[in-house]
Amino acid sequence: MATQRVLDFLATRRPSGPCLVVDLDVVADNFHAFEKALPESKIYYAVKANPAPEILRMLAGLGSSFDTASVAEIEMALDAGATPDRISFGNTIKKERDVARAFELGIDLYAVDSVEEVEKVARAAPGARVFCRVLTDGEGAEWPLSRKFGCVPAMAVDVLRHANRLGLAAYGVSFHVGSQQTDLGAWDKALGDAKAVFARLAEEGILLKMVNMGGGFPTRYLKDVPTAQAYGQAIFQSLSKHFGNRLPETIIEPGRGMVGNAGTIKSEVVLISKKADNDNVRWVFLDIGKFGGLAETMDEAIRYPIVTTRDGDEKAPCVLAGPTCDSADVMYEKTPYPLPLTLTIGDEVLIEGTGAYTTTYASVAFNGFEPLRSYVI
Ligand SMILES: *Cc1c(COP(=O)(O)O)cnc(C)c1O
Repeated sequence: MATQRVLDFLATRRPSGPCLVVDLDVVADNFHAFEKALPESKIYYAVKANPAPEILRMLAGLGSSFDTASVAEIEMALDAGATPDRISFGNTIKKERDVARAFELGIDLYAVDSVEEVEKVARAAPGARVFCRVLTDGEGAEWPLSRKFGCVPAMAVDVLRHANRLGLAAYGVSFHVGSQQTDLGAWDKALGDAKAVFARLAEEGILLKMVNMGGGFPTRYLKDVPTAQAYGQAIFQSLSKHFGNRLPETIIEPGRGMVGNAGTIKSEVVLISKKADNDNVRWVFLDIGKFGGLAETMDEAIRYPIVTTRDGDEKAPCVLAGPTCDSADVMYEKTPYPLPLTLTIGDEVLIEGTGAYTTTYASVAFNGFEPLRSYVI
């Protein structure tokens, strides 16, 4: 829920138009919770979740490392004060000239999931460390990342062997169990796969060192989620189960779990209407929708808590939609959203848990609506 600092900011500044307000204190709390939950793991914040310079600067100051996906994100992390040894180029899909640029900037850690990508890295970043991403099924995740990234473990063996042959440092294995992963057991199978890759390559004298356990740590939306501590315990148990007492170096890359609950979007009700006199479902149109930053409502995947000033009043289901002239800009319809019957055009509503994957998903100017404004306090 919005912190008092966020509520005070909105009450005094009264920004017009939709905006995101991020409370840095909450981000700091999340960072410390991850540190405490997995004290042996290095934290690489996934910059894409929210690259606001204030957030990156604070995390850099707290000692965080950064998972980046492009040269621009690498430069943002460097500008925030991170040294190159604290930055990974974690995208498995990179232009060779971007790898070369990253290497010039001092980046020494790269993700791959194919021999084709290994060849680019070997040419453009000779001698660098690479880790190979293995596929996961994304089950249990509300925003699965599924088949686009990673390869099967048997192929990861080939990819890392090839990297070794080309003079790269075959450094480790990575995976991502899917974003907003609410199944504590999801890391277990992936860690078993990682161990199998370690064991197979060890037989050839290639000694991997690191497991990158990705993101997936959830934000609380409408339902409770387990604590960082609970994730830490489950992951540590699986690590011990698969690796015994020879634990590898580990990395986690929280994005959503680092910033999601730190942000609140303020929005305004533009229209409440019906499609027929005898309709019992109202259509509620906000001044923000899928193109204004709420892209994760796609397929109604992420269901944000919405707070109004009339929440004590009786509620009834509504279709919730954005303001643009695109019929795809409907957020919740298959499962309508209960909102107060007294809700009125012009009312302000707060959309909670929106610190991650909102500002960067907003369109540039669809229908002339400006990108989502953001304040980091
Ligand atoms: C997006 C991404 C993350 C962050 O995932 P969350 O579920 O938001 O924590 C971490 N690592 C990689 C490689 C990613 O692409």
